[in-house]
Formats: sequence, structure tokens, C-alpha cells
Amino acid sequence: MTGSTTLTGIGSTPRTGVGTARWYRPGADLTLPDRPDPSTVAPEVERERFEAAREEAREAIRLARDRAEVRDGDEEAAVFDAHEAFLDDPGIVDDVESAIDDGTPAEHAVHDRFEAAIEQFEGMDGRMAERADDLRDVRDRLLRALLDAPTPTDLSTLPAGTVLLAERLTPSDTAELDPAAVAGIATVGGGRTSHAAIIARSLSIPAVVGVGDALGEVPDGAEVLVDGEAGEVVVGPDEDRRAAALGGNDVPVVTESVSTADGLAIEVAANVGSGAEVSPAVDRGADGIGLFRSEFLFLDRESPPSEEEQYEAVVAALEAFPDDRVVVRTLDVGGDKRVPYLDLPEEPNPFLGRRGIRLSLEEHADLFETHLRALLRAAAHAGGSDAGGIGGDDRDGDSDRDGGDLAVMFPMVSRVEEVDAALDRVESVAADLAAEGTEHAIPDLGAMVETPAASFLADALAARLDFLSVGTNDLAGYVMAADRENDAVADYHDPLHPAVLRAIGRTTTGAEGTDAWVGMCGEMAGDPELTELLVGLGLDELSMSAVTVPAVKERVRAVDSAEASELADEVLACETRVEVRDVLGLDG
Ligand code: PEP
Ligand code: MG
Repeated sequence: MTGSTTLTGIGSTPRTGVGTARWYRPGADLTLPDRPDPSTVAPEVERERFEAAREEAREAIRLARDRAEVRDGDEEAAVFDAHEAFLDDPGIVDDVESAIDDGTPAEHAVHDRFEAAIEQFEGMDGRMAERADDLRDVRDRLLRALLDAPTPTDLSTLPAGTVLLAERLTPSDTAELDPAAVAGIATVGGGRTSHAAIIARSLSIPAVVGVGDALGEVPDGAEVLVDGEAGEVVVGPDEDRRAAALGGNDVPVVTESVSTADGLAIEVAANVGSGAEVSPAVDRGADGIGLFRSEFLFLDRESPPSEEEQYEAVVAALEAFPDDRVVVRTLDVGGDKRVPYLDLPEEPNPFLGRRGIRLSLEEHADLFETHLRALLRAAAHAGGSDAGGIGGDDRDGDSDRDGGDLAVMFPMVSRVEEVDAALDRVESVAADLAAEGTEHAIPDLGAMVETPAASFLADALAARLDFLSVGTNDLAGYVMAADRENDAVADYHDPLHPAVLRAIGRTTTGAEGTDAWVGMCGEMAGDPELTELLVGLGLDELSMSAVTVPAVKERVRAVDSAEASELADEVLACETRVEVRDVLGLDG
């Protein structure tokens, strides 16, 4: 490969980095020997080899867990508990042992059984498919032990300025990376929601995934630019491209809160999906957390987190933002978010089924109670309001505190009755805690607006709550009847479609005249090109991946709020997405 070549993939972390290519091929030395005649295999010897390999893998997994715990906190470390559980999974261990008893050498038995499991998970949707990466990870550890293969490159000690190229990265690989040393990541396979991509994003490492086989031609040592915004990998970039791309990262971090040029305060907060994402959010100057996706506390493990674990995770986030607000969303599973041990119902159309608050109020009522106990206790740590009841104006969020203010919101609301029921649960958990003498407080309470129903009912919801937060990822899907996971209807799933914009406008107008503030925590909020429009639509808070906080803050400062409302009126009058883009001066 000579000169400058551009390969395209899926931009995963919207940052750009330039560095020296280095291939990571952990599986390259794991080629299996030919299968021997079964009659020559001694099952007792192979069983012992398998047992020894499991113990070696277990030790390595525990070491990786300890390292992740120190660096990234409990939740990131929990993925390794799931890895260890695979080592003991009777469905895997028994099958491997019976293949060995039938005359299969241990390495082939492990390989075959894991391949079958990987194939099974890959056939599933959303986050379940990501378990396939976890299985690959465990399989490779076992094979490495059985084949006595060298440990692959130590990813935690890569030289500064490395652009890491790989077929795909496992969660363990990504968790080992030092963000200060890795200038970028590009992978042949993987999608934007693969576990490795999510970890890279949380570490703010520029990343492009799903580049395809062409990536294989990039040699070690080549100079490579990874543009995670455009989804491009440029081999041998020219000076202009380097300067243009790297300039984009140079938006200065603004730690103080920002206002428009005419003085309207807009909060610019961060979305956080794990403990590891909290400190990048602080570093990028976020005004607190606008969406703490609590479901991440429940993923990649075998049973729900305890009340104490949940309490500690929330308190850690509050302590990281002592002067700001942390909005925790209550457990949002269902739809594409499957959690094996929660026994979610099998449904023909899970996106229109038991999701979010629907589960919390019924099937998962016990889980919801534990969740609320942890949150109300954390609210006392934060200060929050006193425990003197909820509803309308008798709350205030400004009492004495060590951490920032806690706020809690309910996902996938579609009925006023759900909010009333959720508020009743909060009251009853508060009463239980009071009866036990456990310190607690009632946080500010809000609802996500992710369904057309919630947008139509915004006035009624806002009258009952302290805030609303628009989740455009789901709202665009439900308004446009287009599955957010389905590439074939990606064109429909467009937050800039006039129908979606009108649903947002309806939400902010619905809340007018109440004390409730309205934020947005869908991906749309993090696009600096839309900041003026969103301010004009009446949003008080924008919450996004930490990586785009500085650019959005910069844009807020340049907005004139009167002009922004005129722009919003003009956009709300559009009838097609092309007209909207024309008005906003955007391409395509
Ligand atoms: C949304 O739907 O916009 C949202 C923020 O929730 P999630 O992406 O977690 O479904
Ligand atoms: Mg959502």
C-alpha cells in the first residue's frame, strides 16, 4: 500500500488520532494440530490437561479482573466474573469432557464447544451478540494454555502513538488499553454497539470498527489516521488531512457552565454507561450526568447487583460531580437490552413489548424496590430534598450535601398512570426506609420522553414531575415506526424528520407553565451542528457522550436565543427531512 489510501468503516468514537500502525493478532498462534485417530487419545490425560488449562485461565481472568477493578471500577471488572462463569458453565464443561471421553483431544474439544456457543450468540440480537466476544476471549485463554502458546502482546504497555489494528478486539483486550498511549483503534469486524467499541468510546480513544478485509493490507509501521467522526482510516495521510482532522479535537475544555450569547443558561451534561465513563466526563467539563444508564450495572454478570453495589456506584458518580446533578435512569431493559438472568418474556416484537418502566412496575417489582432503596439512600448522601413527600412544588433539591444533586428518571413511559404508580413506589420505599431508621431522601424525579404517547402527554407528565428528558434514539424509532437496529430503515430513523422534531417541540411546549425543566439525552443532543436548533426548541439541558461536551459548550456560547427560536419555528414548519436539512444548511 503506497501513498494515501482511505478505508471506510463505522465511526465509533468521534475523535481523530494519528499514529503508527501495530497489528494485534492474538489468535495467530492458536492453530490447532491435526486431529488424531480417537483410538490414540488417552481421555484421562486429556481431562487432566483440560482441568489444568481451566485453572490457568481462571488465574489469568482473576488477574485481569483485579487490574480492571483498580483502573475502571467494579462494573467494568464484572465482565470478568462472567468470563469465569463460562469456565464453570456445566453446559460447556460437561460437553467438553464427554467429547474428550469419545477420543477428542482437549484443544479440539474446547474449540468445537466454544465455536458452537459463539455461533449461537452471534445469531441473537443486540447486546446478547456481544457475549460472543466474551466467549472468544475465554476460548483463547483455554487454547493458549493447552497449546502452550505465548501470551500475546501486552496491550497495557503499548508505546505512545500506537494505532492498534485488529481483526476484532475482545472486551478484555480493550479494557487493558492505556488511553494515553493508544492514538486510535481500527478493526476489521465489530459494530458500534459491540462491547469493545463502547469501552473505547468511554476511554475517548478514536475508533473505527467494521472496516472489512481491506484493513488487513495495512502494514505494521505505517502512519495511520483514524477519524472516528467520518468513519475513515487513512493510511499515509497528507499534511492537510492531518491538520484538518486533528484540529477537530482541539476544542478547548470548558469546565464552567455555559450560557447563550444573550445569557440563557444551558446545561451540557454527559451520558454515562459505566463507572469507567465518569472520570472522562469530568475531564471533558460536563455539567454533571444527564443520563446514567443503570442497566449497565446489570449486564455481563450472572445475578443482579446488590442494593449496596448500586448505592456505591451512584454515590461514586455523585462524588465525582460535587457541584452538579447526576440523573440516574431506573433499570431500562427489554427491547434490544436483554439480560439473561432476568428472565425477560419472549415476545414477537420486544420493542413494542415489556420494556423499561412496564417491567419495573410488574414483573420486576422486587428488583425495582431494591433499585429505589439504593437510589433514595444515595439521594441522602447527595443532599437531595428532605424525605417529606413528593409531588409538585413541595420539593427542593438544594439542601446541604457532599455530592451533587441526585435526580432519578423513569424510562419508556407511555401512560400517566405509570408515573403515578412509580411515584407511589418511591413513597412506599421512603416510608420503609424511614421505619427502619435508614438515612434517605427523595431525589428530583423525572420521565424520559421516548414514546409519542409521552410527548403528547408532556403537560400532564411535567405537572407531576421535576423534569422530562427526551430520548431521541427511541423517540425517532417510535414516531417513524423504524427499528433503531434495522439498517434497512435507517433513513426513516431520523431525528431530523419533521415528525420527530414536532414531537420534541410538543414536549417542550407541554412543559411550559410548569416548573419542570426539559432535557435531551438521545444521541442527537451531542451533535454540535444541532445545538442552535435544540436551544431554539426550548431544551434546558443537553446530555451526550463526554467526547462531544466541549464542542457543544462552544456552540451554546455562540447562540442567540431569539434567533434560535426563529430557526426552530422555521424548522417546525418544514414538511420533509430535505427541507429541514436545507434550513439548517446540512448535507443530505
Ligand atoms: C434514547 O432512547 O434516546 C435513550 C437515551 O435511551 P437508550 O439509547 O439507552 O435506549
Ligand atoms: Mg431509550
